Amino acid sequence: MSDNYSVVAEGLCKRYGDKTALDGFDLAVRRGTVMGLLGPNGAGKTTTVRILTTLIRPDGGRAEVGGHDVVREPRAVRRRIGLTGQHPAVDEILTARQNLRMFGRLFHLGKEQARQRTEELLDRFSLREAADKQVKGFSGGMRRRLDLAASMILAPEVLFLDEPTTGLDPRGRSEVWQSVRQLTAAGTTVLLTTHYLDEADQLSDHIAVVDQGRKIIEDTPAGLKRAVGGDRVEVVLEDAADLPLAAGAVARVAHGVAPQTDEERLRVHAPVREGVAALTEVARTLQEAGTRVADLGLRRPTLDEVFLRLTGGAAETESTSETETTETETETETETETTEEKTTEEKESVA
Ligand code: ATP
Repeated sequence: MSDNYSVVAEGLCKRYGDKTALDGFDLAVRRGTVMGLLGPNGAGKTTTVRILTTLIRPDGGRAEVGGHDVVREPRAVRRRIGLTGQHPAVDEILTARQNLRMFGRLFHLGKEQARQRTEELLDRFSLREAADKQVKGFSGGMRRRLDLAASMILAPEVLFLDEPTTGLDPRGRSEVWQSVRQLTAAGTTVLLTTHYLDEADQLSDHIAVVDQGRKIIEDTPAGLKRAVGGDRVEVVLEDAADLPLAAGAVARVAHGVAPQTDEERLRVHAPVREGVAALTEVARTLQEAGTRVADLGLRRPTLDEVFLRLTGGAAETESTSETETTETETETETETETTEEKTTEEKESVA
């Protein structure tokens, strides 16, 4: 297995009674990158994380984390990983500093080493000001950051984040995102499972979409969006009389299909290959003809559209990003209870 990859899974299978949770799942996560695992409820994301963190064994296939086999060398794997989820494992009564020192000791660091590591992590996760305050007064985002810090006590090579921002408000989410970005900048490999499409988009270098126990596609966030149809040029006019002219201008740059004209909204749009060049060309034609334009832009598909197209189901949560480019809004509810319980169990077993 290549040294360039921190996580490799080949043909993983897992059944629970007559239910197939994983059905030949493959994954390879390059060292120092973030892989987002995205999929509908029951797709097999948590099962994958549980196998890779040695909490359960696969029925078939194999996996290595940090260069060690998850079944044959579980201890070596555990020494190289951190796991954090929706329920902070930190103690409410203790302060941030006391919590981190306690985790250091639990992970068998010497007293002085635990102290040093605690101070580093307080800085790294912007918790210094709150260091001597009891956790029970912390916001959700601060708790999750402290939890991330605790999972980094041993500076793991690979960090598993199982829905790290579920239940947080937008501010808390962005605080956690910032911490995750700092971790990856420092070289940690991250496997992130999330229900939030915008979270996968923001944090991941690559996204693997999982459905029915298999990976159905993997690409960069931009690549996934391109796969669903790429960019479109859109012109909105002031005057309906200019619609034919605008349709002609858009037709010259359109890729594959004829432009669509929406007479009611005075809008013409078409998919294009070279987005920026096409936009410039349309702008020039319209300007030379003296056309009055209300709006002209490049529209990109959102990850919601990608997800819907690929899994044929509903995206599980509302997406809050990319409102400028979203044309169809997807709003469904998050189901968190079962995974919350699982994550607590997992954390305890890993600790
Ligand atoms: P979610 O987004 O809802 O957390 P997921 O993608 O993490 O879903 P898994 O929790 O891995 O999906 O579950 C995959 C399948 O395996 C589901 O059909 C689930 O019902 C089933 N499953 C998972 N754990 C168990 C278990 N302990 N016993 C029985 N079936 C299980």
